[in-house]
Amino acid sequence: MVEELVFDNTEERRKVRHNDTGWIEVIVGSMFSGKSEELIRRLNRARIARQAVQVFKPAIDARYSHEDIASHSGQTHSSIPVASTAELLGHILPATQVVGIDEGQFFDVEIVGAANRLASEGRRVIIAGLDQDFMGKPFEPMPQLLSIAEFITKTHAICVKCGGTANYSQRTVESDQLVEVGAADKYEARCRRCFVPHADAPTLHD
Ligand code: ADP
Ligand code: ZN
Repeated sequence: MVEELVFDNTEERRKVRHNDTGWIEVIVGSMFSGKSEELIRRLNRARIARQAVQVFKPAIDARYSHEDIASHSGQTHSSIPVASTAELLGHILPATQVVGIDEGQFFDVEIVGAANRLASEGRRVIIAGLDQDFMGKPFEPMPQLLSIAEFITKTHAICVKCGGTANYSQRTVESDQLVEVGAADKYEARCRRCFVPHADAPTLHD
């Protein structure tokens, strides 16, 4: 462990620790806050370090590509779309060191046990996802993943109304569905003051 002191970079330190054990990193925030960008950045660095990386996304999220995970700013990383946690686990190769998961909020609750298992097997698990739904309520299973993670990163967007720190995903179309997949066509980033929790609230359409 003395080796750790050589590095002043957290990511490098984690790499050294990889020989000992795995861990879970969770990246959460509102839409447009840079979760996917941050996930892709970490995955690219792991690949540069020649680690064996596998990346997954829920099959539901076909926003930009059926195969890649994508950020709103256009960065992409190849991934395997899966319909369930069980399917994800079925794809894990014995040699895989780093498991990336985007849109974690769309996974079933089994993802919590799966993340623990993958980390306990010695893998680095990085999961990005929305921590709140369009009503501003905790978006399961992300809260559970936050509570078991070793490392947590909260990202923020810019409020489109006032330029403040945005922590909410405002739905701009009428729908009562919890899952209404979309991007700038259906959602915008808002701060606490500018967020209106109801999809049909009058201020949405003024
Ligand atoms: P997330 O995965 O959290 O939805 P992404 O990583 O896909 O976020 O996209 C982040 C990018 O979205 C930013 O780098 C920026 O280019 C773009 N963007 C669009 N609208 C906003 C906004 N209101 N605040 C911040 N970034 C925004
Ligand atoms: Zn605002």
